[in-house]
Amino acid sequence: MENIVIKPHHLLDILKLYGKGIENFVPDINYKHNFYLIANMIVNGKVEFIRFTRDCDDICRPCKYCKTEKCYDVVAFLNGYSKDQYNKEIDDELLKIWSLRFGMDYNFKDILVMLSKELNYHLFKKVWKYEQEYAIQFRNAFTIMGSYKVFLNYMSIEG
Ligand code: SF4
Repeated sequence: MENIVIKPHHLLDILKLYGKGIENFVPDINYKHNFYLIANMIVNGKVEFIRFTRDCDDICRPCKYCKTEKCYDVVAFLNGYSKDQYNKEIDDELLKIWSLRFGMDYNFKDILVMLSKELNYHLFKKVWKYEQEYAIQFRNAFTIMGSYKVFLNYMSIEG
């Protein structure tokens, strides 16, 4: 079992894609980040403890945009707004809603149980406030689906 450091929205992105049907994550040859590695660990029941951060996480480390703990990419649909700032706004809001803290280790199964209670349309609508309506509904449905699938994976490993 592994311990990971992750941005809250990265966790939800992984659950969304898993809920959509991606079972095996592959490397991104452009960004060169570790999204695939951490995603495969999460969905395959390999994570014991999870620590949330608003700075560069275990996914970001090898990314070409990760420098000095900051993301230097931009958000194309927001006219080049700083992705670092955009992500921090989302991640701060998520931890506030969940009443969790950055820098603390949480048992990942406890986080999955928490998510089964906390994920809903209103959360996605509030946090992803710049997204189109269809994208929010998509995000909501598939993230919930993915979180239940991952929860079942961890339960089946436990036996
Ligand atoms: S550094 Fe930025 S672009 Fe790269 S993985 Fe992290 S958040 Fe994504």
